Order: sequence, then structure tokens, then C-alpha cells
Amino acid sequence: FELCKKVPKVELHAHLNGSLSEKTLTTLDVPQHLLEGYQIINNLAVTTPEKLNECFKLFKIAHDATASVNSIYVATKHVIEEFYKDNVIYLELRTTPRQESNMTKEEYIAAVVRAIEESKDFITVKLILSIDRRHSMEVSKNALNIILEMHEMYPDIIKGIDLCGDPSQGTFHENLFIEARNSGLKITLHCGEIKNDQEVLQMLKFKPDRIGHGTCIHPNYEGSDELWKLYKSSSIPTECCLTSNVLCGTTSTYSKHHTREWLQDELPFCINTDDKGVFNTSASEELLHAIENLNLPKTFLIDHSLSAIEYAFASEKEKMKIKEFLMDWKKQNQG
Ligand code: IMP
Repeated sequence: FELCKKVPKVELHAHLNGSLSEKTLTTLDVPQHLLEGYQIINNLAVTTPEKLNECFKLFKIAHDATASVNSIYVATKHVIEEFYKDNVIYLELRTTPRQESNMTKEEYIAAVVRAIEESKDFITVKLILSIDRRHSMEVSKNALNIILEMHEMYPDIIKGIDLCGDPSQGTFHENLFIEARNSGLKITLHCGEIKNDQEVLQMLKFKPDRIGHGTCIHPNYEGSDELWKLYKSSSIPTECCLTSNVLCGTTSTYSKHHTREWLQDELPFCINTDDKGVFNTSASEELLHAIENLNLPKTFLIDHSLSAIEYAFASEKEKMKIKEFLMDWKKQNQG
């Protein structure tokens, strides 16, 4: 574990509100009954593989805790600091802009951006803004307009757009993502978390820059030969989230996680936390699970950071700088 902790890491799939640790929730002005609820469900999720929809109930608690400009700002600062303390040197946070009684979506985004800007001296953080698949076309279109407006204001921080939310509900409004792509945003889509061949096919044909999870694509995991063939020819990197999948019950065990098939066929992937608060995990722990359960050598650790940075949404110049740092670290720590 010490080596997993020590290696400089790259994290590309972390939902902001799912990343709030109990400590952060305690710091925020969370009513005691909500905090107790979070702890109970959090512990349950950790000890008992719960189904995906059970896990989704947890987000409500984090959302109640970050319903103002100040609380989402403080929460973002905490999350960044915790990733930094875990030796994450490059972080992509994603979040769904929310409107609350005393906060607009624009103010929400601006507060998150402010926290990111204030962290730039010790960690590189980029922001991906999410569209929730449960929302109607009209709500999502409105969200997209705000996202594009904010992207113009903060082009160096807001780099991408994501489709997330409960995969058993809602839909992929492809035309909105075409518009986002045409406006210069990178695209990542939660894809195939549960079996939905038609949607996976539509998403793969759309050719996002990355996909999240990719659980039900390979025929061994409820996918199909056709989907797998298409995925393999696409070279789209997959953001794998081991603990999240195990605890949500979409994967039975760490050693049977579909990352195995990505390794076997030498396909692009990276290992991520997804929701480190909800699933009580960290970037280091995710790497440890990968090493221990997928039969990987220790050299995988730094090589993983080197390949993950290739898939990042930062500028080529920023990626090159981080790559050089990782190469130096590798040279100094060989053996
Ligand atoms: P937020 O976007 O910062 O509020 O982070 C929490 C939100 O991320 C949740 O309400 C979900 O919409 C989304 N999310 C977190 N984990 C997952 C996942 O595993 N699949 C799909 N969506 C997710």
C-alpha cells in the first residue's frame, strides 16, 4: 500500500459530491440526522454489496450539504486537498451544476472553479460538467447553455462534459453532446453500467473521448460480440472504477472486474475512485485493489499514471509537463 500511496497519481473519474468524505460532511453545516443517515448507509454499502439504486440514495445527503455557494466551495476545497494528500498530482473533477433556492447553476459552477483556481499551486485540477441522464431534454438543454457559457469564461479549467446519473433511468440526448463537442468540450459518457446494448451501440458510434465504467460491453459481462468488436476498434479509453462496481453489485468481485478483459486485449483504460466518499475509498486503494486482484506488477503503478495522463482533457502542453514529472519520478524510483 505504501508504494500505491507514494506514486504520483492521475485521477480522471471523480464525482464531486460523491467524493465528500465523512470528515468533510462534518465540517459542513450538515444537520446531525443527515450525517447519521450518511454514515449508516455508507457503512452498509461498504460491508454489503448493495445494488446500484441503493447507492444512488446517498447522493441526496451530499447534495443537501452543498446547497449554497459557500458550502459547495468549501466542499470542493476539501475534496481537492484529500486527493492531493493521497499524492494525486492531476485531478479531473466532475459535477452536475445545481440550482438551489439561494444559488444559481452559474454561481454553483463559479464556486467550484474558484476552489480549483486556488489550488493551482499544488495540484492541477480540471473540471468536467455533467448532464444528468434523468433530466428532460428541456432541462438538459438549459444546463448545456449554461455549461457552454461558463466554458467560455473559464476555458482553462472547464474542459469537458459528461453524461451521468442513474443508468436505469433517462436517456442519452446525443444532439446536445454534438453541440458540446462542436463548442470545443471533450466528451465522456457513462456507458454500459447496466445492460443496454442499444444505448452502448449509440454511444460507441458517437465516439466520445472516453467512456465511464464500460461494464456491459464485453460478452463475458452481459455485452455482445458485436459491441466488443466495435469497442475494440474504437480506441476509446475506459475509466474503470473497481470498488464502485463491486459495492454497487454490477461486478461480483475485484478479481472478476472487467478491467481483466481490457488488460488481456491491451486496450486503453485507467483506474478511478468514482465516489470516494460514498464508497469510502481513495486513488491509492483503487490501485492496490488492481495490483492485488488483477495480477499486475508493481511497475504498473507509475505506468498507469503515464498512460492515464495521455487520456486527460488538459492541454497538450500541460499534459507534457506532467508526463515529464512522471518520467523523472520513474527514473528516480526504478527498482
Ligand atoms: P455531483 O454531480 O457532484 O452532484 O455528484 C453526484 C452525482 O454524480 C450523482 O447524483 C449522480 O448523478 C452522479 N454519479 C455518481 N456516481 C455515479 C455512477 O456510478 N454512475 C452514474 N452517475 C453517477
